[in-house]
Amino acid sequence: MRALLILGTVFVFIFLPFQSAHAEEEDVYQKRMALYKKVEAVTQIPWYYLAAIDQYERNIRQVRRDLPKPQGLTGIYFRPEEWAGIANPHPSDTNPASISFFNGAGVDGNGDRKASINDDEDVLYSFAVYLLSYGIDQENIKIALWDYYKRDKTVGIIADKAKIYRHFGRIDLEDSAFPVPIRSNHSYNNTWGDARGWGGRRIHEGTDIFSHYGVPVRATKYGIVEMKGWNKFGGWRVGIRDINNTYHYFAHLSGFAKDLKVGQIVEPGTLIGGVGSTGYGPPGTSGKFPPHLHYGMYKDNGYSEWSFDPYPHLRMWERTEKLKARKNK
Ligand SMILES: [Zn+2]
Repeated sequence: MRALLILGTVFVFIFLPFQSAHAEEEDVYQKRMALYKKVEAVTQIPWYYLAAIDQYERNIRQVRRDLPKPQGLTGIYFRPEEWAGIANPHPSDTNPASISFFNGAGVDGNGDRKASINDDEDVLYSFAVYLLSYGIDQENIKIALWDYYKRDKTVGIIADKAKIYRHFGRIDLEDSAFPVPIRSNHSYNNTWGDARGWGGRRIHEGTDIFSHYGVPVRATKYGIVEMKGWNKFGGWRVGIRDINNTYHYFAHLSGFAKDLKVGQIVEPGTLIGGVGSTGYGPPGTSGKFPPHLHYGMYKDNGYSEWSFDPYPHLRMWERTEKLKARKNK
């Protein structure tokens, strides 16, 4: 009895917080979506563009040291002096009239007559008002984004995110899949950072998943095909950018899935090609090493992109999929 009681207590403490954390997460997506729709209704800026900008800013803040971590419902960050206006003697000004006088970005979005940098609605609305000064169609939004970020890649990433959100009609796109079918014969070790000889000295920026020729290779996250074609190291390769600003690199493929094209939207499990051994030479070179999928992951922080170790992610995706398969039996 006492053992049961202890077990019960352990259950409550381990599983209940997990449950409520999960529910909280769903709640956040709902609240965010409601906010995007509300600002869309007032400004006519499409919700999926607001969602894409918000997500982009959240993503870069998560990996940048010079920006505060995102805390509110929105991820958009204004520096206090941007918000209040550079010449404003009160950097924490919340008066819409004086902020406007000093050309600050802050606007009152929720109707409380304050433009508060800590209010999600005010922050999102302020960004929407900036976009509105250019126009509400895609071309003008892109020009507004270029003037704001001064970087083509950022504009491209945000436009692609908007396309993904619009396509699925929702923002909770965090599911995953292991890149080869979990029941296929495959093996992989943690070799990220190892030395590689071919083509000059470089380090191994990925995990090699050894399998047989032609075993299906699938997208691992919701995203968009950013790159497809030959490169001398990776052979036939595909690059997919996901909703969290991570670039997933699939190399040495035997070939591509029929009709796969740059700009195509994918979801976890979408077929993109087959395991092969292409690469280490001019287009078509194959068989210089055993067939395997080279899987790389790269993060963008708004300035540059760097490789990080995909191994822990692969392990997690594989485990998640195995659990799901067991539940569905
Ligand atoms: Zn490799």
